[in-house]
Amino acid sequence: MRSVADTSVPKEANMIAKIEENVSMVRQGKATVLVGSQWGDEGKGRITDMLAENADVVARFSGGPNAGHTVIVGDEKYELHLIPSGILHPEKQNIIGNGTVVYPPAIVKELEGLKNRGIQTHNLFLSENAHVIMPYHLQLDRLEEERKGDDSIGTTKKGIGPTYTDKVARRGIRIGDMLDLAFFTEKVDENLAYANAYIQHNFPEEPLLTTNDIVEEYKPLIEVLRPHVADTSLMLDQARKEGKVILFEGAQGTLLDLDHGTYPFVTSSNPTAGAVCTGCGFGPAHIDEVIGIIKAYTTRVGHGPFPTELEDETGEQLRQKGHEFGVTTQRARRCGWFDIPIMKFAIRVNGLTQLALTKLDVLTGFETIKVCTHYEVNGERIEHLPTNGKLLKDAVPVYKDVPGWTEDLTDVRTFDDLPKAARDYVLMLEEIAEIPISIVSVGPKRVQAVLRTP
Ligand code: GDP
Repeated sequence: MRSVADTSVPKEANMIAKIEENVSMVRQGKATVLVGSQWGDEGKGRITDMLAENADVVARFSGGPNAGHTVIVGDEKYELHLIPSGILHPEKQNIIGNGTVVYPPAIVKELEGLKNRGIQTHNLFLSENAHVIMPYHLQLDRLEEERKGDDSIGTTKKGIGPTYTDKVARRGIRIGDMLDLAFFTEKVDENLAYANAYIQHNFPEEPLLTTNDIVEEYKPLIEVLRPHVADTSLMLDQARKEGKVILFEGAQGTLLDLDHGTYPFVTSSNPTAGAVCTGCGFGPAHIDEVIGIIKAYTTRVGHGPFPTELEDETGEQLRQKGHEFGVTTQRARRCGWFDIPIMKFAIRVNGLTQLALTKLDVLTGFETIKVCTHYEVNGERIEHLPTNGKLLKDAVPVYKDVPGWTEDLTDVRTFDDLPKAARDYVLMLEEIAEIPISIVSVGPKRVQAVLRTP
């Protein structure tokens, strides 16, 4: 076997060709779901971008502009918040499903940013049933977080929680409602009266918004969005019947799921695989593969329990080496070692069929790598992730030490060229996961991946 040092690095163009050829090695069904397996920021954007190569349609099914995806193509870096990463491929349909929430100023800014860089956007379709984030939702989000002080959830303050609250309370405004200005104005009037009464009662110092301000702000944005509005469930069904390859791109991560995550420190929607069905109007029996994106260590943004968190020099080393600062908020991410009970949990609740392990390159240089194998809670051994917040808070991680490696991985393109310790790390996780790790990502660029035949 060649050592990593003498691995010859093909030119960028050859590397792209090789990766594009090899992407077909990843077992992709007609409908594949990609989900984050930890607390988000696993590198879903870059994996979606890579697999979008083979897809005809890329769809988002939950969340809002709180998600931040970074995709690097060649020397260009794209930061996408709501628009699917498939937008970088002009021939593909990109769908924002009904399960998402859309902030018109942000999506229009994102669209214009892409257009200014020569990216075509005619291929973006927005569900008429997605809910609209209104300016008073942002206001409510900020006020509630400020009121909670030290007990705040650590939301991105983008109005997502209050928008989903209005959806569940059956008073929300949907994209389709905006298309008729008189109807939209009526709905804003009704909802604003409700929001303002709440704000006035709880935050008497806070200035109140007016219907006119909101309608005037949104009017030009509605015209930008109008040509993109569609019945996206119908589009997905047509695509499926035509035998097209569909990729569902998750946002956030499993542990931020409203039902299955570390409640209440979660997002207000379901980033887990089941939400594809409700969030896109796509039947479960049509889903073939569910790929979990999992980082080679663990990170989390915001508050809430995090058993393997390292609040020391090692945690700082992971943060600096992994550039663990949020795309959307620039917040420093909390960092810690890999957590096996979390991986097993993600496999279970999402029904994962494969894993994509990202950021393995960041572990280069650690003499010893620790992996949490199980927890001890009140002296008792627990193999699974406790979903009771109190139990998880008290869970003490038990670690296994594995040898690290010193070689740079970023130019490695085949599994055999990885240093033995890195290969052993992947194989150890794969054996425990009992599903294949079919992608190992060794850098942020599209080409920086090792693809393995499942
Ligand atoms: P997402 O929200 O899951 O798409 O995650 P982000 O894109 O916010 O975070 C991933 C960050 O890590 C981005 O800055 C990516 O460019 C970067 N990234 C993704 N995969 C890798 C990898 O394998 N190695 C390194 N070093 N960086 C990566």
